[in-house]
Amino acid sequence: MKIRSIHNKLIFIYTLYIKYIRYLYTLSIMTYLLIYNTKTRAIEEVKPIRVNKIGFYACGPTVYQYAHIGNFRTYIFEDILKRTLRLLNYKVKHVINITDVGHLTSDENDGEDKIEKEARRQRKTAYEIARFYEKVFKKDIRRLNIEEPDIWARASEHIKEQINLIKILEKKGFTYRISDGIYFDVLRFRKYGELWKTAPKETRARDNITIKEKKNPQDFALWKFSAPSGADPSTIKNFPLRDMQWPSPWGIGFPGWHIECSAMSMKYLGKHFDVHAGGIDHIPVHHTNEIAQSEAASNMPFVNYWVHGNFLLVGGKRMGKSEKNFLTLDELVDKGFDPLDYRYLALTAHYRSPLFFSLDALKSSRNARLHLTTIIQKLYQTKKKISKKESLKFKDDLLETVRVDLDTPKGLALLWSRIEDISINEILWADRIFGLGLNKVKPLKISNKIRNLLKKRDSYRKGKNWKEADIIRLEIKKYGFEIEDSSRGPVLTSLSFS
Ligand code: AMP
Ligand code: ZN
Repeated sequence: MKIRSIHNKLIFIYTLYIKYIRYLYTLSIMTYLLIYNTKTRAIEEVKPIRVNKIGFYACGPTVYQYAHIGNFRTYIFEDILKRTLRLLNYKVKHVINITDVGHLTSDENDGEDKIEKEARRQRKTAYEIARFYEKVFKKDIRRLNIEEPDIWARASEHIKEQINLIKILEKKGFTYRISDGIYFDVLRFRKYGELWKTAPKETRARDNITIKEKKNPQDFALWKFSAPSGADPSTIKNFPLRDMQWPSPWGIGFPGWHIECSAMSMKYLGKHFDVHAGGIDHIPVHHTNEIAQSEAASNMPFVNYWVHGNFLLVGGKRMGKSEKNFLTLDELVDKGFDPLDYRYLALTAHYRSPLFFSLDALKSSRNARLHLTTIIQKLYQTKKKISKKESLKFKDDLLETVRVDLDTPKGLALLWSRIEDISINEILWADRIFGLGLNKVKPLKISNKIRNLLKKRDSYRKGKNWKEADIIRLEIKKYGFEIEDSSRGPVLTSLSFS
């Protein structure tokens, strides 16, 4: 009996030892992603909290309208971030929230719930509106070849978690009650606003709209009442009946926008996790408030790396739903573009720089993407291969470029500068980062008739009968193919791509 227990202990110690050695080994071979952290205003190595596992939360859409291509710029950069982490051998757990309740028209504490407002306008329920635009959003994500997260988290399905978090904050004295809801008292949180203060100047503007009863303009709603008990009946119109409302310890109502991201990210990724991303507009209010309420509740650091993408601009202005200068993906498709043309365009700018949208720029991206498609089709025909050493060199160089703060413009430039020296294998590998759907490019279907014509042309060319060879070239053109004579023989490209 005793011997058996010693034996078990030894096995246990040995397993721990092996795990520890493995841990040290993983650390020593790990290549880190380098990313600009808004929190420290520096480019840092992303060192995961748990060995080679990354918890990644990205703020998702408010589903009251079609998302525009500005929004998708942010989701594309987040997709590149995730793909790069995966290529660096991290296991990424990715969560995106769906804001289907609580986002008010002023982005802060005032105004109406965006979804309830749209529901009234369209004479539908808030649920119908939210589910409809969520579905369209997910379809657009797929068309842009953005990998779906491991978890989609709807705010309306995490009310219990949000109430629990507010209860903790209440217990710790961070909240107070006014006539329209429960608010977070920012002055009680010593480090309030650190993220916002470290952000670039242009993003520091704060929402000035304030409710008179608030102690401090920056205090924000954790829970809003939709029908406060004892409210003056003449003010009830300020609290119209809503579709989405729930009982809570404080009264019937709905959660504020910021609390959903804290509650859901902590539920799925833990109180302290690795990476949190969004657009730069989220720095001063949404993310600042997320940090305050999460750290106040947990007494722990919330997120290690805050990553923010810059805007898509149109006519020098941010593309936005409220600016009414936006384009949807469907509108681009109606103009004859493939959603992946837009993805290519998004990759041509560094995620921290503004991207100026124009149809001309989109056309250039379309041409570049189609050019890649033709190159792949040619490579299918020539069956070009390169040595393992050359292949590894290309992959290393590309990863090394994108690894440094997700420099996709440099990555694309590298791909183009080496395009003559690589084969399909390397292009498709590069596309594991870029996500341009190049793995879906099929070899050209070349019929026997065309193959025979090519053979005939070849024999004319061998006999230096250029005239007849040219006649066949024209004939093949009628079938929709251009011939290019390469060192490996003639290769065809489809005319429908030019
Ligand atoms: P929303 O649905 O309005 O909450 O926005 C969803 C995401 O899109 C957020 O991460 C925003 O920061 C981002 N976003 C909004 N407008 C733009 C824009 N013009 N360019 C890039 N990202 C944007
Ligand atoms: Zn969020």
